Amino acid sequence: MEIVTPKVELLDIVSLGPEDINTLIDVNILKLYYAYRRCYSGEVEGFTNKYHSPMTAAERIEVEDFIRKMRKSPHESPLEHVTMTWHVYNMDRAISHQWVRHRLAAHSQASQRYVKYDNLEVTVPDSIKNNENMFQAYKKYMEGVEELYKGFVDNGIPAEDARAILPNATATHIVTTMNLREMIHFFNERCCYRAQKGIRDIAYEMLDIAKDMYPCVFENVGPKCVSMHRCPEARPCKEKPFQH
Ligand SMILES: Cc1cc2nc3c(=O)[nH]c(=O)nc-3n(C[C@H](O)[C@H](O)[C@H](O)COP(=O)(O)OP(=O)(O)OC[C@H]3O[C@@H](n4cnc5c(N)ncnc54)[C@H](O)[C@@H]3O)c2cc1C
Repeated sequence: MEIVTPKVELLDIVSLGPEDINTLIDVNILKLYYAYRRCYSGEVEGFTNKYHSPMTAAERIEVEDFIRKMRKSPHESPLEHVTMTWHVYNMDRAISHQWVRHRLAAHSQASQRYVKYDNLEVTVPDSIKNNENMFQAYKKYMEGVEELYKGFVDNGIPAEDARAILPNATATHIVTTMNLREMIHFFNERCCYRAQKGIRDIAYEMLDIAKDMYPCVFENVGPKCVSMHRCPEARPCKEKPFQH
């Protein structure tokens, strides 16, 4: 039995290699730029000739400034032309259940039918980790589950049936693609203090990466209160991020 913590990587960067990150950013912000421009340009052909990758620093500023201006309007469909593909591993099954409720994203999750656990990996909620007695009881319980699971599998019980005894804390791994419009919605909901800490921590890690790559899209994004300048929840948190 092993205790693990969730980790996030952006597969777009992993696949390209970090040396090509500027090309990826150029291509994606140009797609946004031309999608917004298409809506307001009378030109039929050739209007996409103005900028190409690699952009100069000055061109990048012009393009980003235009997108920033557009982001102030409720015109959001151009954001759907760019996606980010995330690999989140060591997320627990309770969090992954919340995760896949986001229907406008595409999800591919490790199968508990085809993948058997030789070594049961589990996450630990902070409240349990910070209570030594409860943490010891937690570990003992998980070790018992692992032993029983392995006993089932060794005695010919198919993995799809043996998994019936696995806890919510069992780590899972998922690849998720979201377009930027859906990502903003995801951050609005999952960076909110009303969301569970496990998913909130992952959402903030993703938001940091998204802000680094596309500041003109994500710089004012966070929990929904940040853009609404008020909290719409029945029970507001004490943090009040919209006031900072
Ligand atoms: C703090 C918190 C507590 C929650 N508690 C519960 C709970 O107790 N029980 C529970 O079952 N769920 C709960 N949820 C899950 C929640 O109801 C949503 O299922 C989840 O947040 C996914 O978001 P979404 O519906 O906006 O879907 P997304 O797929 O992210 O959709 C994005 C947006 O697209 C639009 N959209 C997508 N599909 C449709 C559609 N079929 N029809 C119309 N518009 C659509 C909506 O505007 C939607 O907001 C909770 C979520 C949060 C953040």
